[in-house]
Amino acid sequence: MDDARPVDTAVIGAGYVGLTVGACLADLGHRVACVEKDRLKLAALRAGRVPFHEPGLPELVRAAREHGLLSLTDDLAAAAARAPLVFVAVGTPTRGDGTADLSALQDVVEDLSPVATPQHVVVVKSTVPVGTAEWVQGVMAHAGASVAANPEFLREGSAVADFLHPARVVIGTLHDGAARLLASVYRPMQCPILVTDPRTAEMIKYASNAFLATKISFINEVAAICERLGADAAVVAQGMGADPRIGPHFLRAGVGFGGSCLPKDLRALVACARVHDVRPLLLEAVQDVNEATRQRFIDTVESALGGLRGRTLAILGLTFKGGTSDLRESPALDIALRLLDGGAVIRAFDPQVGEEITGHLPQAIRCTDAYDAGEGSDAILLLSDCPEFLHLDWRRIASRVRGRLIIDGRGLPVREVATRAGFVYLGRGDRLPVSVP
Ligand code: NAD
Repeated sequence: MDDARPVDTAVIGAGYVGLTVGACLADLGHRVACVEKDRLKLAALRAGRVPFHEPGLPELVRAAREHGLLSLTDDLAAAAARAPLVFVAVGTPTRGDGTADLSALQDVVEDLSPVATPQHVVVVKSTVPVGTAEWVQGVMAHAGASVAANPEFLREGSAVADFLHPARVVIGTLHDGAARLLASVYRPMQCPILVTDPRTAEMIKYASNAFLATKISFINEVAAICERLGADAAVVAQGMGADPRIGPHFLRAGVGFGGSCLPKDLRALVACARVHDVRPLLLEAVQDVNEATRQRFIDTVESALGGLRGRTLAILGLTFKGGTSDLRESPALDIALRLLDGGAVIRAFDPQVGEEITGHLPQAIRCTDAYDAGEGSDAILLLSDCPEFLHLDWRRIASRVRGRLIIDGRGLPVREVATRAGFVYLGRGDRLPVSVP
């Protein structure tokens, strides 16, 4: 296949990853068909709406459709029959036992199998357990199609930029032709391309997410110790992160990790290790610390207010991080539910989440903005690092609250400005205040 030639491509699953991959590849000049089986999602996309918040993605989708390079369909077989390059980007959620649920991938492979030809390269983009691409290869063997594991490392909130400017691309395949085709597709990204076997590629993804989760649990445990010793956890992280062997990222103490990837991928790796008779001691501890971190935050709220029952708490931020509308496994949601269980009244606001709040937290009061959320509250809980929260008028909020207390679960740089507005600011790793105005 000619390196410079645009490639007809199908992307199965138009979620955070699939739609980003499809729109970005179309932006690079490839003709892409995004296949989505969720009717509501497909209808929204066809109507020109991206049904989740991802900066820059709606504009990219619109431009690609206007240029005739991106089509949207529910006809997997027809799209795949026309496209020699097929990315599979369906979800791989957690099953009850912690293992990855591969049923969506299995359905796709079943549908692909009859239309596959020796010209096809099937690329597993979803995060899947080690050995999955080999299984797909086995199913495709009758057709002579090639298979590659090509894990994705984009982050929600910066998905487009991450896909177009990755730190590295990992291609796991035993087929030279597939490796060459994928390398040519990724060449414009001008990043290191690591070609390896499928098992190693799949493990790189799980190991990367497990390491990121480990960094988060590590700094949260350090913050818990700092709290007792009177050391400043944020400055400790800054001092550690300046060492290039450690690095500054994922070292912000908070309410622990969540979202659609880290918890589920960690669970899947732990489950997989156990199945193969390896006791993943460190990874189990990372999970335990994460759970303890959430509870510690709730304990802090309870201690600071002398109990939860009847207290009004303003929760700012419900998604698992700022810049996304994704609520999957959000620590903020879990904490809100536990606070409600403890008898607190919750006034919740998230700039990216609308009516969905009511679905997830039916007992909470859904607020129109941070000022509304603050109305009559005994404390403000910062639970997501939304950029919008960096520009709040804390004096205006101070005039509406009952107690001037901020408990920051995300390490936002608002200590100074909030203190100037008359708040007591309690960050992770801080000792409890003596009294709240
Ligand atoms: P998602 O749930 O947002 O999207 C998956 C989409 O696939 C859904 O819209 C679903 O309707 C669709 N789908 C399922 N079966 C289908 C079928 N048979 N035909 C057509 N469409 C089908 O999931 P996501 O967040 O995009 O994640 C996809 C994969 O990528 C997962 O394995 C995830 O772990 C991995 N990943 C996600 C991220 C992230 O930040 N979200 C980052 C890297 C990797």
